[in-house]
Amino acid sequence: VTDRVCYACGATGAGARCACGEPLWFETDPEAVAGWPETPEPSLWRYRALLPCDPPAGLGASVGGTPLVRAPRLDADVGGAAVRVKFEGAHPTGTFKDRGTAVGVAGATAAGRDVVATVSHGNMARSVAAHAASEGLDCVVCVPADVPAERLTAIARHDPTVLRVEGDYGRLYEAALAAGRETGVAVLNSDTPLRVAGQKTTGLEVLERSSPDAVVLPVSSGGHASGLWKTVREAVAAGLVDAPPRLYLAQAAGCAPIAEAFARGDETVRPVDPGETVAYSIANADPPSGARALAAARETGGAVVAVDDDAVLDARAALAERAGLFVETSCATPLAAARDLAARGEVGPDEEVVLVATGTGYTERDVGDAPTPDAEVVGLDGVADAMRAAGDRAP
Ligand SMILES: *Cc1c(COP(=O)(O)O)cnc(C)c1O
Ligand SMILES: [Zn+2]
Repeated sequence: VTDRVCYACGATGAGARCACGEPLWFETDPEAVAGWPETPEPSLWRYRALLPCDPPAGLGASVGGTPLVRAPRLDADVGGAAVRVKFEGAHPTGTFKDRGTAVGVAGATAAGRDVVATVSHGNMARSVAAHAASEGLDCVVCVPADVPAERLTAIARHDPTVLRVEGDYGRLYEAALAAGRETGVAVLNSDTPLRVAGQKTTGLEVLERSSPDAVVLPVSSGGHASGLWKTVREAVAAGLVDAPPRLYLAQAAGCAPIAEAFARGDETVRPVDPGETVAYSIANADPPSGARALAAARETGGAVVAVDDDAVLDARAALAERAGLFVETSCATPLAAARDLAARGEVGPDEEVVLVATGTGYTERDVGDAPTPDAEVVGLDGVADAMRAAGDRAP
């Protein structure tokens, strides 16, 4: 792992952004990779040759190695393709954000920083605060001044400094990066180079254990999608895969700036007015890595798909009831998108599809129509009869 380079213009630079305005990522050396790692190490650090730093001492050392779950009862939903779900909800704070945070915190420590920071009032905030707590770093979480109290409670568990920032929340992302450059605080926002390096390991794990034709993931800032694109490029350059997968990115129709740009055939993403959606954790109206995410979909032969809230809630129920995975609402967008792609013939019956479920649903407050359990009351001597009846009901 060498310089930070710009995917768009090829220039090298320091910090998070190229002079051309696009995000930088860490260049890697395909020559340093002789094949998939032989170590039994299950964490993301098995890909050390492709990462910019050594593992941290605490929580971040065991991040990664999440299950890739076969979901045969979802095959028919996706035109008969073989469906697998990469279940990122298995991470310590419940989402794939722990991958980027693990590498981000390790990189910050290696650079001698003792304060990390992020802009988020959701999954990212919890993840950075948790990893900072484990490493003994101070952590500053910037939230909008009007953040709901219950969100602050979840973030406060790990005892970070919470800053309620007044003003335009949309501008806080770049403002925090600028404050980091000024103060030496390591800002681990969604699409920063260390974070993307960590988040590409979702893709490395998928490609090491399977050979999908298509990978579908939810997209918001574009940081995770950038990471998966990086994986595909590295895996091809290092000769680890013969036929790289197409990357499909899913957005909620209520806030779909990247899908709209894809549909227009644009190379850059125009900010949209933030709309309402049940998939609130992927509702970035002005994605900082939007153009890079667009390139990821186009260059791999994939697409960016918008799905409406009813389709998202229906897909969430299907994942829970037919794959045994209760995912955060936003993480049902890939199944909803895959259903549409199969209906359009973009995913075929002989293909293998990986849906990336980026987070668990168990950390989420009720969103949409949570089913009310219809539970019968029986006496001790009624249990056997009730079990027999359940057998009749089994699908
Ligand atoms: C952050 C997040 C995303 C979106 O990832 P980006 O890198 O911002 O595109 C998707 N799913 C979950 C659960 C998230 O927390
Ligand atoms: Zn550039």
